[in-house]
Formats: sequence, structure tokens, C-alpha cells
Amino acid sequence: MANPFRLPMVPRALRNLVSRPATRLYPTELRPRFAGARGAIVFDVESCNFCMLCARRCPAAAIECSREDRSWAIDQLTCIACGVCVEVCNKKSLSMSAEPGRVHTRAEATPDGRRPGREEWLKPAPPPDLTTAPVSAAATD
Ligand code: SF4
Ligand code: SF4
Repeated sequence: MANPFRLPMVPRALRNLVSRPATRLYPTELRPRFAGARGAIVFDVESCNFCMLCARRCPAAAIECSREDRSWAIDQLTCIACGVCVEVCNKKSLSMSAEPGRVHTRAEATPDGRRPGREEWLKPAPPPDLTTAPVSAAATD
């Protein structure tokens, strides 16, 4: 019978038992976000004028916008995070969130806990809350 300590994988297995893990222990250990990291698109309904430019330029057809209904919706699961919509929006209504785990937060928000379907993402944007004063750009920096 062959000596098990002469098998090539045994020294490596023993080394791995005492060495540090090769990967992070996600999700308990999160990688710090870096500047310019891409994430989910965040929409500011208060500044949007529903010009539909973002929907026309989106290469993945992830945005649906209607000037008549004054509605805007994004399918985050179709979005490829290219950033084109953020670049073309003249009103600065779109930004990209670098928060980890933001893309699927709607799944947790659905009453039955399932992943969001197209209907959920394409719901019309809520009407703007006109009771609160707009936040100035200087205050958000
Ligand atoms: S490009 Fe900007 S302002 Fe125009 S519809 Fe899109 S988010 Fe709204
Ligand atoms: S980031 Fe790209 S794919 Fe995603 S909604 Fe914007 S334009 Fe479309």
C-alpha cells in the first residue's frame, strides 16, 4: 500500500489547514469600496424632467420612462452598470451607488420574499414629496 504522506496533495492539504484563508469571509468581511466603483443606479425623481434621454441611450434597455405619465423605472437585473445613463442625464438625476448589496434590496422588500420580477421594477416612480424643502447641493457634498 502506498504511503499516504508521499501523495502530492497531502503536503498541500496540511499547509492549507494552518494557513490563512485565500478569500475574504464574505459577507462577514466586506471589501472596502473604492472610488468609482459601479453599483446600482439611484434615481432622484425630484430633479428629473422625464426627457427620456437615459431610456433612449441605455444599451441594455433597462430603463422605461414616460413623459406623458411622468414615470421612470429601471430593471436593475437587466442593467449592466455601464454608466451611460448617468453620463447623459443633464439634470444629474441619476447616480451610481457603490453600496454593497444594493442591487437586490428590493427582493427583501417584497412581501413574500422572492426576487423582484419585471413588474416590481417597472412600477411608476412615486410622486415627489413636495412637503420637504429641497436639499442644497452644498449640503450633500
Ligand atoms: S435623462 Fe435624466 S432627466 Fe432625462 S429622463 Fe433620464 S433621469 Fe430624467
Ligand atoms: S447603467 Fe447602463 S445599462 Fe444600466 S440603466 Fe444605465 S445605461 Fe442602462
